[in-house]
Amino acid sequence: MTVEQKIFAEWLVSPSIHAFSTTRLGGVSEPPYASFNLATHVGDDPHRVASNRVLLQQQLSQKLEWQWLDQVHGSDVVVVNKAGPALTADAMLTTRANLVCCVQTADCLPVFIAAMDGSEVAVIHAGWKGLASGVIENTVSRMSTSISNLAVWLGPAIGPCHFEVGGEVRDDFLAAVESSSFVPAMEACFISSKNEGKFMADLYAIARLRLSAIGVDKISGGDYCTHCDDDKFFSYRRDGVTGRMLNAIYIEA
Ligand SMILES: [Zn+2]
Repeated sequence: MTVEQKIFAEWLVSPSIHAFSTTRLGGVSEPPYASFNLATHVGDDPHRVASNRVLLQQQLSQKLEWQWLDQVHGSDVVVVNKAGPALTADAMLTTRANLVCCVQTADCLPVFIAAMDGSEVAVIHAGWKGLASGVIENTVSRMSTSISNLAVWLGPAIGPCHFEVGGEVRDDFLAAVESSSFVPAMEACFISSKNEGKFMADLYAIARLRLSAIGVDKISGGDYCTHCDDDKFFSYRRDGVTGRMLNAIYIEA
């Protein structure tokens, strides 16, 4: 039986760029981490997580070095030239070949960015807090590629069908809109929920809008809901104690 263990980015970039999100399928972890959990900080047996990481790494070039993050829902970006211990940040970029930039998610939005010529890559852990505090804009501003040569793929995140937030979250995003011309589009990212004072938020649409506002126009992906698809994805909001998917991007030498 073949299982869909990776979902590959669909975008028009150099074939030297590899980007994918893992699913929860095909690993060795037991419930509630079943089965392909790649995170060490969620309470899973560390030996099983290590086995899952080895399973993944064996499928790819042995020349790859892997850089992980300790994610804190902030807006800091690290520029990486060599793999080392996990760094505290929510976004990572590199121009070095064979260096895999990793973020872990279970509902938050993974944003993959590539220089279309294959010279530079980045990946971002973007929950609503990171989005609101500018993690996407910070990452793009640290990249040396001109904005017109950047492409973005939005990996699997919780969809607007399931991501309910309080009115204060909507207020934060509306207050941060820099040009009044974007206000109606930002308002459209929040649909009134059946619960009084709550909204169903569209992380994909928010990310697209904020990318558009800084001039990034080649954006693909955003077709999944991690909460809806229990078979394929971990979802923190659905399950609480659960595993994490890996979102990885690298330049092949
Ligand atoms: Zn959903």
